[in-house]
Amino acid sequence: MTTLILGGTTEASRLASALAEAGLPAVLSYAGRTESPRAQPVPVRIGGFGGVGGLAAYLRHAGIRRVVDATHPFAAQISRNAVAACALAGVPLIALERPAWEARAGDRWTHVPDIAAAVAALHGPAETVFLAIGRQHLAEFAGLPHRFLLRLVDPPQALPLADAVVEVARGPFDVAGDRALMQRHGVGRIVAKNAGGAGAEAKLIAARDLGLPVILIDRPALPERRVVATVAEVMGWLHADLGV
Ligand code: NAP
Repeated sequence: MTTLILGGTTEASRLASALAEAGLPAVLSYAGRTESPRAQPVPVRIGGFGGVGGLAAYLRHAGIRRVVDATHPFAAQISRNAVAACALAGVPLIALERPAWEARAGDRWTHVPDIAAAVAALHGPAETVFLAIGRQHLAEFAGLPHRFLLRLVDPPQALPLADAVVEVARGPFDVAGDRALMQRHGVGRIVAKNAGGAGAEAKLIAARDLGLPVILIDRPALPERRVVATVAEVMGWLHADLGV
């Protein structure tokens, strides 16, 4: 009856707690990107499965009966793999996904489809850019003349950017803190992924308060799958499906 949670997000951690409290067996899976992931109330496994075939084999061997894809909306590869592997192994899948952010009055957002378009949108005179996209894809911004403010979970070993300041911090973040951070560094523009959710939204509210433009990267397209937005909906699906 074990449920596999594909994690790496606050929602996945919340779901792990909900399953533990309900006494439902679960395993939480991390890709292994951060050095010290949060402690969890359910068993944790770390590292890639080895593509679709590897994940399908894991589901069979570990006796997984349900999969919840609670990965970040930009973790597209694992989400695609989960759809294919669950179909292969005959295991029901649900995605727990935060709704995307939508602009409000005062927001100065430019929507771009992907990282390459974000790079193109940054061509222009040098300024300080808050590049709030995590640590993957930084190299793609290397040719630009800007100073970059980065916020990373772990201190980086080496950076592909010539002029970068790093703030090591783990969310959730608050608006006052993000406003102060941007003012302290003289940020002129923000680049962010449209991740949705509360913890990462502070920078967008701070940008609105400060009247700063934001380049917002759209979510990658994913195959058709069942999607819900809350832990409660996942629990409802599990209870109905498992008949408990
Ligand atoms: P990705 O590009 O979709 O996945 C790349 C590969 O990493 C997958 O094919 C899989 O390897 C492995 N992987 C990813 N998530 C995994 C998981 N939860 N458990 C086991 N293996 C996993 O993923 P990503 O964008 O690098 O993100 C990696 C992790 O960071 C995810 O857990 C995600 O929730 C979290 N995260 C991502 C972002 C973001 O902006 N992308 C932001 C915050 C947190 P195999 O093919 O070998 O199975």
